[in-house]
Formats: sequence, C-alpha cells, structure tokens
Amino acid sequence: MPVKDEIRAANEQYASSFEKGHLPMPPGRRFAVVTCMDARLDPARFLGLEEGDAHVIRNAGGLVTDDALRSLVISHWLLGTQEAVVVAHEDCGMLTFSNDDLRAKLAEETGEDASDVDFHPFPNLDESVRSSVQRIRDYPLLPDSYDAHGFVYDVRSGALREIA
Ligand SMILES: [Zn+2]
Repeated sequence: MPVKDEIRAANEQYASSFEKGHLPMPPGRRFAVVTCMDARLDPARFLGLEEGDAHVIRNAGGLVTDDALRSLVISHWLLGTQEAVVVAHEDCGMLTFSNDDLRAKLAEETGEDASDVDFHPFPNLDESVRSSVQRIRDYPLLPDSYDAHGFVYDVRSGALREIA
C-alpha cells in the first residue's frame, strides 16, 4: 500500500476516537524539547508527553541550530515555554559521516556543489549536547531565566542519561 494510503487509514482510526480537540495552543507543561529525527525515537513516549504538553522540535542530530533557536524564541515569547530539554541519542547517524563524505555523494548523485552547505555532523555525542545546551543558555533572544538541560537517549535500553 502506498505510504499516503497507509497514513490515511491510520489517521481515520485516530480521528474516530479523538478527544483532544479542546486543547489550547500554548504547551500546558511549558517546556520545549529539541531532539533528533531518528525513527527509533518516540519523544512523546519516552518523555511521557501527551498532546498539548510540550513543543517538540526535531532535526537531524537534535541540534540547536539557528532554525531550532528560531522555534525556541517563538515557543518562549509567544507560547510561554520556560525551559528546553535537548535530547540526543546513542548510535546517531550524525556520528557516521563528515561534510566531505556527504558533499562527495551529492556531487556524484546530483552533480551539484554542496561545498557551502554545513550538514552539522559531529564526532562526539556528549560534547554536541553540551554545546547545544550552552547555545540556548547564551542566546540573547532568550531571557536568562530560560533554562536548558541536556540528555542522551539510549536506543537500546530506552533510558535517558543526563549530561548537562
Ligand atoms: Zn540521530
């Protein structure tokens, strides 16, 4: 079955018993999560989130990029979150390639020059989380009171390790 048909069938089921239509836009638990897009991560489940609880910002690596900061600024100033949690994970794909690797692949596959694109791979997980957390703490468009914490999720055990 094509993906779009699979997801439509799953959604029909979901909507048929949906009871969360009354939720307000601002996250009820007033925090945001920045985490990786990895398919093995289900932040709602491993962090105990329900619909309406928290903002979840996802990208490759769970990195606090300029675009993640853009979302956090909106999350805080317009929607009332007071802290962010950065969750990276063991066995992250971002540990497995370099910018040059991916640029070479893109040149070969597409003929395009991606030498000016930084894909933000990183060699050290804990260091990456610490620098992401620091980036939030130092960001001038978020107030000093805006808190940030960092964790690494283990895809094999499902457990979180606090590192910042
Ligand atoms: Zn990842």
